[in-house]
Amino acid sequence: MTDYTLTDETEAYLSEVRPMLIDGAWIAGADDGKIDCENPSTGAVFAQVYTGTREDAAAAISAARRSFDEGVWRNKTPAERAKILWRLADLIEEHAAVLSELEVLDGGKLHSAAKHGEVPMAAESFRYYAGWVTKLEGKTAAISSAGGAPFHCYTEHEPIGVAGMILPWNGPLVMAAWKLAPALAAGCSCVVKPAELTCLSTLYLGDLMQKAGIPGGVVNIVTGSGRVVGAAIAESPLVDKLSFTGSTHTGKNLLDAAKGNLKKLTLELGGKSPAIVLEDCDLDKTVAGVASGVFSGAGQVCVAGSRAYVARSIYPIFLEKLKQHVQGIKVGAGFDPDSQMGPLISETQLSSVLNFVRGAVNEGAVVATGGERLRCEGHFMTPAVIIDVNDTMKICREEVFGPVLVVQPFDDLSTVIKQANDSEYGLAASVWTENVGKAHSVIKQLRAGISWVNCHGLPDMAMPFGGFKQSGWGREGGLEGLLQYCETRSTLVNLG
Ligand code: NAD
Repeated sequence: MTDYTLTDETEAYLSEVRPMLIDGAWIAGADDGKIDCENPSTGAVFAQVYTGTREDAAAAISAARRSFDEGVWRNKTPAERAKILWRLADLIEEHAAVLSELEVLDGGKLHSAAKHGEVPMAAESFRYYAGWVTKLEGKTAAISSAGGAPFHCYTEHEPIGVAGMILPWNGPLVMAAWKLAPALAAGCSCVVKPAELTCLSTLYLGDLMQKAGIPGGVVNIVTGSGRVVGAAIAESPLVDKLSFTGSTHTGKNLLDAAKGNLKKLTLELGGKSPAIVLEDCDLDKTVAGVASGVFSGAGQVCVAGSRAYVARSIYPIFLEKLKQHVQGIKVGAGFDPDSQMGPLISETQLSSVLNFVRGAVNEGAVVATGGERLRCEGHFMTPAVIIDVNDTMKICREEVFGPVLVVQPFDDLSTVIKQANDSEYGLAASVWTENVGKAHSVIKQLRAGISWVNCHGLPDMAMPFGGFKQSGWGREGGLEGLLQYCETRSTLVNLG
C-alpha cells in the first residue's frame, strides 16, 4: 500500500453520506438505508451513499417526465445544448483529480488509467456528442405514391423522451458518460441508477452537470439496488427508453420488466471474446497486446479478449513469452504508481473468478501461470493463463469477468473461425497478423460487433460499440449511438 494523499476536495466530498439528485435537489435517503462504499484495494469502507427506495425512483422519474414534457432541455436551441455539454466536458477535465481518485477508491481502477484513460474519455464523450447536437439532421425523400402531384416529404429526429439508464460497476464514470452524452445531445431527460458498488463518480458528475447549466429535473441520479431502483425504472410507464449495461442474465430480466409500455431497449451485455493469433504476427507486440487485451482492468471488461487461439507453429514460443510477460505484471493497489493490474471489485467477484480457475482444473485444464489469491488486504489475484482446455469447458464458454486467459493452439483458419464463433456471445474479437488481407478476411467471418486488428480493447466514441448475438441490442457511440435516443418523424406536405 502506498501513502497517497487524497486531494482536499475528495476528502471533503467523502466526509458526508452522498445524497441523490432528484428534480434538481440533493436528497438524503432514510437514515437506516445506506450503502457502504468499499475500497477494493484495501477492503475498507471509506464512504457511504443512500439506498434509494421505489418512492425515490418514482420521484426521479416524474421529475424527468415533467422536465421533458415542459421542454426545459429539449426546447433549448441545438447551439445552447451543445455549449452546455461542451462546458460539462471542460468541468470534467477541471475536476479530473477528484474524479480519478473516486474511480480508484470506489472502482478499483489504477490511478494512471483513471487519470489518463477514464476521465478524459468521459470528457470526450460529452464533447463528441456536443458536436452532433447541431448536426442532427433529417432527410427529404422523393415520393412516388402521389402519382407525380407536388408533395414534399421530410424526416426529423426527435428525442425519444425519458431515458432510464442502469449502469454496471466496471466503468462507472465512462458508462455514465456513454449513456448521458448521447441522450442529452438528443434532448432526452434522464434517470440514472449507478451500480451499488460504484456510485460516487456518477453522483459527482451530477454536481458538474448542475454547474454546467443542465436544468433541474433533466438528469436525476438514484442510488440503490437493482431489484428496487433498477426494477422501478425498467417497469415505469413514464420511461420511454432503457439503456442498460450489465450481465446478459439481468439484461434478459429487463425484457419482461420493460414490456408494459414497450419501452425501447439498448442492451450492452456480456462477452467471451476471442483473440486470434496468426503465424505471421509480430510476436513480442502480440504477446503484450493479447495480455493487455484481457488483463486491463483486471479482466473486468466486457470486451476482454479472454480466449486466445494461437497458430500451432508458434504456440510453444508464444506461450513461453506470454508466461514470462504475465509473471512480470505487477499486481497492486490503485494508488501505487508501480501497479500494472489492480484488484477485483469485491470479495464476491474474487471468489467467483477463483472458482472458475478451480473448476477449469477440475475439468482437466492446466494453470500455466497465476490464478492465485494474493495474501494481503484487498481483493487481489495474480493474472492467470490456462492451457490444455477444450471448447466444451466452462472456462472457455462462460464470461469470467476477471484476469483469466485461456490459450489454445489451432491448425487451420476455417477451424479457428468456427471455434471463435462457437459462443452465445458476439461482443468483440481481435486478429493479430502482419498480413492485412488475411486480417480483413478473418474479421469478416467473425460474428462480433467490435473487431480489432493488432490491438484489443481500445474504444472510441466515434466507433459504434455493442454486440452480436446475446451480447446485446443496439450500439453506443457514433451517430448510431445518438439515434438510439431518437424517434424519427416523417412528414408529407401536400403542396398542391
Ligand atoms: P449486473 O447485471 O449484475 O448489474 C448491472 C446493473 O443492473 C447494476 O446497476 C444492477 O444494480 C442492475 N440490476 C441488477 N438486477 C436488476 C434488475 N432486476 N432490474 C434492474 N436493474 C438491475 O452486472 P454487473 O455485474 O454490474 O456488470 C458486469 C457485467 O456487465 C458483465 O457481464 C459485463 O460483460 C457487462 N458489461 C457489458 C458492457 C458492454 O458494453 N457490452 C460494458 C461493461 C460491462
